[in-house]
Amino acid sequence: PIKLADHYNGEQCAISFELFPPKTDAGMDLLEKNVERLKAFQPSFFTCTYGAGGSTQSRTLDVVQRVRELTGLPVASHLTCVGSTVGQLGEYLAEAKRRGADYIVALRGDPPKGSESFQAVEGGLRYANELVELIQERFPDQFGIAVAGYPEVHQEATDAQTDLDNLKRKVDAGADVIVTQLFYDNDDFYRFRDACQAAGIRVPIVPGILPVTNYKQALRIAGMCKARIPDQMAAAMNENDDADYQFKVGVDHARVQTIDLIENGVPGIHYYVLNKSDAAGQMLDGLSLGMQS
Ligand code: FAD
Repeated sequence: PIKLADHYNGEQCAISFELFPPKTDAGMDLLEKNVERLKAFQPSFFTCTYGAGGSTQSRTLDVVQRVRELTGLPVASHLTCVGSTVGQLGEYLAEAKRRGADYIVALRGDPPKGSESFQAVEGGLRYANELVELIQERFPDQFGIAVAGYPEVHQEATDAQTDLDNLKRKVDAGADVIVTQLFYDNDDFYRFRDACQAAGIRVPIVPGILPVTNYKQALRIAGMCKARIPDQMAAAMNENDDADYQFKVGVDHARVQTIDLIENGVPGIHYYVLNKSDAAGQMLDGLSLGMQS
């Protein structure tokens, strides 16, 4: 069977980079340049996100295919339940396979802008665990599957334990790796990892890290995905509005997080690089990814 988890049993902390489908050809050219630069850090794989709109969905697979050709590395396609029937999800998976994706990041997706709760389409799926089941039922053992975990608890979950039970459903349905939502305080991650362990979750848990490059962006992202900005980081960024200064504070923070995560034995780190390479490049430059046991 194809397993994403296979990347996480080596001597090194396995890194991966998350991209999104650019809207324009110029954006695609830039993505290609940045992917070439990111390749120098020897990632195990790339991933490409999946948008809610129809046009970006085929662009996800365009990116998957192109980045595979450019780098020779595996590229995972994200896939959400938003707006698709089970039949359409099956077609997407078949097309993903044809275009060289062996890994799927299986998600439910966010409710559309303006609505509070997620509504499944008729003939569609309600939760990510159902998508994992669908993949394993229609394409048994043909995809490595990652699912999302939330160190600060998913915003719609009533409490942490319920959220954890729901995470376990996804693993029990056949996901073989958990990639987390971004966070800025590693203690949130360690608590989450301990709770997963206690709940009997035995797949690799890979922290997701975003090197923020300015304070406004940090605030916007914090609002979107409920990632708390530690006071110390906020204070440091607020000290000066100079763009270069804020960039350095954000990148230094992600670098310190990375070093600490490696020291605490994470099997890998997933970086939200937003199609860029400057921040990731500076963050990873000269860093040793060897495991400290
Ligand atoms: P689920 O696991 O389905 O959980 C959603 C909520 O329902 C949670 O509160 C959970 O506790 C609850 N729940 C889950 N299962 C059940 C159940 N069986 N019964 C009752 N309650 C349940 N979004 C995109 O649109 N495109 C992307 O490419 C994308 N990539 C992402 C990558 C990562 C690594 C992460 C962390 C997030 C990504 N997202 C993406 C965002 C994601 O779609 C949202 O966070 C979404 O709100 C939840 O998706 P999920 O797969 O975690 O949902």
